[in-house]
Amino acid sequence: MHEWSLAEGVISTAISVARDNEADNIRSINIKIGELQQVEMDIFNLALEETAKGTMAEDSEMNISFDAAVLKCRSCGKEWDFEKSKQDLSEDEKESIHFLPDFAHTYIRCPDCKSPDFRILKGRGVWIDSVELESR
Ligand SMILES: [Zn+2]
Repeated sequence: MHEWSLAEGVISTAISVARDNEADNIRSINIKIGELQQVEMDIFNLALEETAKGTMAEDSEMNISFDAAVLKCRSCGKEWDFEKSKQDLSEDEKESIHFLPDFAHTYIRCPDCKSPDFRILKGRGVWIDSVELESR
């Protein structure tokens, strides 16, 4: 259940930002999720809500957006957007990659040299983009 630990990380980070800024309340938390990060959104949303209970983040608005993935070829050094590779994939393949990012290597090739050996530069992880604070 890594959604719970991700949610706890988000809430505790937001609270420490609020404390550092001597705020009384957190109005909103803007959360970014890497496009290739595996997150069960229903569980994540529930975990955020539950974790925030009784804290400054209890009534905060949680805005979640996705951050586009960028890949880099290990053979020729080419960097490209996952979005570009996605255009060549079938719906089923896109689904598998979303749920199991390691499958990306099965379907995706470097657009220049066609090597399947690439790494994910961007597109993983869950982090806070910004928090909106309130002081009384
Ligand atoms: Zn390449």
